[in-house]
Parts: sequence; structure tokens; C-alpha cells
Amino acid sequence: MISVEEARQKVLDYVGVLEREEKPILYCLGQVLADDIYSSLDIPPRDNSAMDGYAVQARSTMGASPQSPRVLRVIGEVAAGSIIEKEVKPGTAVRIMTGAAIPEGADSVVQFEDTDEVEHRVNSPSQRSLTEIGILRQMPEGLNIRRAGEDIAAGSLVLRKGTVLRAAEIGVLASLGRSKAPVIRRPVVAILATGDEVVDVAEPLPVGKIYNSNTYSLAAQVLRYGAVPRILGVAPDSIEPLAEAIQRGLSSDLLITSGGVSQGDYDMVKEVLVREGEIAFWTVRMKPGKPLAFGVFRGEGTKRVPHLGLPGNPVSSMITFELFARPAILKMMGKKNLEKPTITAIVTSPVKNADGRRVFARVRVSRQDNKYFAHIAGPQGSGILTSMAQANGLAIIPEGVAMVKEGDVVQVMMLDWEEDQG
Ligand code: AMP
Ligand code: MG
Repeated sequence: MISVEEARQKVLDYVGVLEREEKPILYCLGQVLADDIYSSLDIPPRDNSAMDGYAVQARSTMGASPQSPRVLRVIGEVAAGSIIEKEVKPGTAVRIMTGAAIPEGADSVVQFEDTDEVEHRVNSPSQRSLTEIGILRQMPEGLNIRRAGEDIAAGSLVLRKGTVLRAAEIGVLASLGRSKAPVIRRPVVAILATGDEVVDVAEPLPVGKIYNSNTYSLAAQVLRYGAVPRILGVAPDSIEPLAEAIQRGLSSDLLITSGGVSQGDYDMVKEVLVREGEIAFWTVRMKPGKPLAFGVFRGEGTKRVPHLGLPGNPVSSMITFELFARPAILKMMGKKNLEKPTITAIVTSPVKNADGRRVFARVRVSRQDNKYFAHIAGPQGSGILTSMAQANGLAIIPEGVAMVKEGDVVQVMMLDWEEDQG
């Protein structure tokens, strides 16, 4: 048996960062930028107003106050998106809207609240545009003006290669006028369920059979971490059809099978792997998920496809996915942070660790008085998928610890946060 870390390292050593692709920015969400991005523009492109108000020369407002307004002549109006050709000179003002380019000559914007505009409107409601405006405060130069290039200067490095594109970065790309971005492509992950007892969800359920849940939980995990699932259906427990189904997965970047890796007579995945690929390991010192295979299949020509043979038990397959498939996918996507966040929490009921493996117990983490509490999420049998549905984290009971008691502190690998769960 090998440790979780050794197993993970072997998987990670095998996979590499995939090639780049160029695609519409919105579809790059969660992908890693493959190039440095420089701006060819100043953003904002011109000096513009940060307020609705009046563009003026600051010196025209010298000594202004509510008691002694400085009255300026209004020579025009400019809305966002337009340019006004008139020049603001001493004693004049241009009415200006937020985002509109600052007219020539103006060096500050007086917001409406610092003018007597409202008073004018009340006193002479029929007058559509004002010919003069009273300024009620003395303005410093530059106030309420957003400078050209203050967000991004033309020629500057805006986003570094290796950045993960979130909504903000996608917005930044759009602000540069880019409709596409160069990113590391998403891995295609083939998913094959195995087992004579397993039938697909759209079929009637004959006696003695069970529905295929693994394909769907695994495909959802693949999607969640940004890769593309390719569902290969269910293969029976016999060598030839299984080998054939595996062949169909060999144009992918990673093949995941579920089931068929334990010691039972009908566990055929190992046999096919021995025949058509190489086995890297079989058992990991963890619970659930001890029977686990990693290998490499020979694909077309020189192509080698990494294969994770996850256990069939629905909880085991999901947890081993989190521990081994997820980091492999993230590495292929060019990501650097391959860890789920871990917190320290207080367990609210005892957890046993009978046989010295590392236990990943399904827990529901809640937060009270700035402390995290980990509540065991129902029965912990590796077939009990509903307790996985109850859980938002996995409490880690180390190999050497036989038991944690109520009140003990444990590390919890968070699978989700409240925010993800509605
Ligand atoms: P195995 O690893 O093939 O021995 O399977 C272990 C357990 O997981 C058995 O009880 C199987 O019936 C169950 N199992 C295997 N594959 C699936 C699947 N795709 N969906 C749900 N349960 C499964
Ligand atoms: Mg099986």
C-alpha cells in the first residue's frame, strides 16, 4: 500500500500542461491565460467626468460658497459618449454627465450638489436649459476627473500569463476590446462505468441491478473543475467488450473508469490494464478508496493516455476523484494551486479509524462564534451516497490516530462552501 501523497505525486508526475487554444472570452471562465496580455489602449481613453455636474476651470470658483456663489455662464452640455467642441474659459461652464469626455479648457467638475441647479429648476420650471449656474464651493484642480490611462496605461502589462480567468479578468479583457483570449485548453475526460449489475438511468431496472450513479457524479465533478466529460456508458465485466470500450476512451486526455479494481473475481479493469497498458499502483492507504488503480494505456501511435481506475462504490469514486483526478485535471489546465482549502474544525461526535488508513469522513461544517464545527454527515459506508450529499467537507483522520473524540480538533478538506450550496 502507498500513501495518499505518493499516489497523488505519481499521478501528477505523469500528466503535463496541455496546449493552448484561442477562444471567445466568455468561454474562458476558469481557464489559465497562456500569454501575457498588454494593452494597446489607455483606459479610460480620455479624461472624463466622475460625476454629473459642471465642467469648469477651478480658478473660476475661487472664493465660492453657499453664501456667495460664483455665477458662471453655461455654454453647452455633454453626455457620455459625446464630445463637445466648445472650450471652457474663465467664467464659463459646460453641463456634463458621468463618463463624458472633459471639454477643452476645463480642469475640474463641480457636482450638482455643489451648484444651485436644483434651486433654478424650482424657481423657473419652464426653462429647459440653464444659461447660468451658481457654484457653491471653491474647487481644487482635478477634482471629479478620471484621468486618461488611470486604470490601464497604453503599452502596460495588464494580465500575466498563468492568471486564472474569473469574471473580473474577463471584464478586463473586454475593456481592452479583446473578444478572444489565448488559454490552456480544457482536458477531455472520458468516463466509463463498469459492472454487470450497472444499468443506465434511462433504462428500466431489472431485479438484481442498480442504476449507474458514478458516471453522473464523476461527470459533474469533471465539469465543476473546468474539464469536458466524455461519457462512454457502462461496460460489462468481460474482457473483450471492456477493452473495446476503453479503446473508445483513448482519444481523451484522461480516462476514468469506476469499478472493477478490487479483489473480486469479476474485476476485469486490472486485467485489461495489464494487457493493454501499464499499471502504476493498486492500493492506497486511505478509506474509503483503498482499491485504486493508476495506469497508462497505449493509444494511437505514440499517444499514452493516463487512466485512473476508481473504485465502484459511489462515495469512494467521488472522494478518490477529489484526491487524484481533480489535481491531475487542474495541472493539465495549467493551474498552480491544486489543493482544496483546508480548515481546522471541532468534531461534534466521535470518529473511529479501525485499520490505520487515512480516513476521509464526510462532514457537514458549520460556523459558530468564529469557530468551525464538523458534524458527521450520516452513516459512513462507502456505498451511502446520500451522506456525501449531506456533506460539504471531508474530515481527515490521520493514519496513526485510532479515534477522534467529540471536541477534538481535526483538519477538514472543504469540498464546498455555504455560498456554493444555496
Ligand atoms: P466494484 O468496485 O466494481 O467492486 O464495485 C463496488 C460497489 O460499487 C458495488 O456494490 C457496485 O455495485 C457499486 N458500483 C459499481 N459501479 C457503480 C456505478 N457506476 N454506479 C453505482 N454503483 C456502482
Ligand atoms: Mg464491479
